[in-house]
Amino acid sequence: MAKDDTKGISVKKDQNFSEWYSQVVQKADLADIRFGIQGFIVHKPWGFMIIRKIYDYLEKEVELQGHLPYLFPIAVKESDLQREKEHAGFSPEVFWVESAGSKKMEERFALKPTGEAQIYPIYSLWFRSYNELPFRGYQSRISVYRNEMTTRPFLRGREFCFFETHDVFNTHEEAMAQIKDDLRTCEEVIWKKLKIPFEYFKRPDWDKFKGADATYTPDTLMPDGKRNQLASTHDLGTNFAKAYDIQVLGKDEQKHHVYQTCFGPGIWRSMAALIGIHGDDQGLIVPFDMAPIQIVIVPVTFADKKEATEKIITLGEQLATQLQKAGYRVKFDNGPDSPGAKYNHWELHGVPLRIELGPKEVEQQVCSIARRTERKRSQVALADVEKEVKRQANAVDMDIEKRALTYFKNNIRSAENLEDLKKVLREHRGFVKIPYCHMSKQGEACSDKLQKETEGAVVCGTLYPQEEKVKAGQKCVLCSQAAHHLVYVAKTY
Ligand SMILES: [Zn+2]
Repeated sequence: MAKDDTKGISVKKDQNFSEWYSQVVQKADLADIRFGIQGFIVHKPWGFMIIRKIYDYLEKEVELQGHLPYLFPIAVKESDLQREKEHAGFSPEVFWVESAGSKKMEERFALKPTGEAQIYPIYSLWFRSYNELPFRGYQSRISVYRNEMTTRPFLRGREFCFFETHDVFNTHEEAMAQIKDDLRTCEEVIWKKLKIPFEYFKRPDWDKFKGADATYTPDTLMPDGKRNQLASTHDLGTNFAKAYDIQVLGKDEQKHHVYQTCFGPGIWRSMAALIGIHGDDQGLIVPFDMAPIQIVIVPVTFADKKEATEKIITLGEQLATQLQKAGYRVKFDNGPDSPGAKYNHWELHGVPLRIELGPKEVEQQVCSIARRTERKRSQVALADVEKEVKRQANAVDMDIEKRALTYFKNNIRSAENLEDLKKVLREHRGFVKIPYCHMSKQGEACSDKLQKETEGAVVCGTLYPQEEKVKAGQKCVLCSQAAHHLVYVAKTY
């Protein structure tokens, strides 16, 4: 983490979000984009430590629900990829391994674009009886591969960080209960830990996961007003069980196809939301539980005050040890840079709390604490430092939460007709609620029209689990037929 990047972010977030985002990704040491193959990035230590925290919390949540970890290969058999008819729709995005050395492979294989087609053929060998179910399995800290044409760090890549659960049940009721648990996992991790607000949607039928009966997603809004899908969970019904022949013997001694769900929290998408939503003109802001370093201690020393300097250094080291013992991730930054350069460096990297120790502080047995979300610092007696750190950690998270939630809530609007809708999307973007005809395939034509008329806005879906009701007599904004749903639309990543 070199400190020669003190120039910091050169654009304002609200003036040029896209450039701001690129600069934060690079200058805050999240990713190196110079790998040289499009869509493949290097995850740098600072960024990867945050991503590992996302994985840590997700693993904890799904294991509490009884999920067991496993690890499948990176390869997928071509014939397996084609077995579920709709799911085979992934084919155009798939990378194929066709040769090794100078020899062509006898049977080419795909790099996995997602897990279903490689996991379910094995599931068909694992389960024989209803009493072996439910089964909940997951894999974590893996990558998947899709041939995306436009790529962006943490938003879209040809290789990206992945997490997936694949669950098997005797009944559809159990499967639906799991969907609710998946959404709860999003709440525990994406909202409570990452502080990213979202709404849950049930996707329209024309925009479901390939092969699923229904898809549910938590979606947030990025600072440019575009939707960012943070995760997805799918009710697979018995579609994949039929395609991959996953059957168990029931209590009735008959063979039954199993019910399945799969859940994929977007590791990258959550990271992109954390960067984009919380950051400011100084750079990244990381919520307290997510931060690789939660507290940085900066000594403020003077070359002509040797004795005071020694005291400051000793006290700084003691304080770091004390706070580490109290369970915090602490860095005592005793490097050669000026205090100002250190402040800038750690602000850019989003460290939530900074403690400053200078001659005056040492003399008075106090220290100064500054929150990343505020411009001011407060003084506290060294004897009370642990209590104050706890209070400030809570306060920094409250600041982050409040800002994120305010932006999110202020960017949900309504429109009653196409002109209003276009105007809102042009002036504000964000989510716009509109009356809409059908969520079944019947409504797809209106979705096409929506995209054309608004240069790319899509139907996110209806709120889940509690759908908002349309008023009697409301008409679909696109086709003027009777509206049966109130849907959210937005421009999207
Ligand atoms: Zn319509």
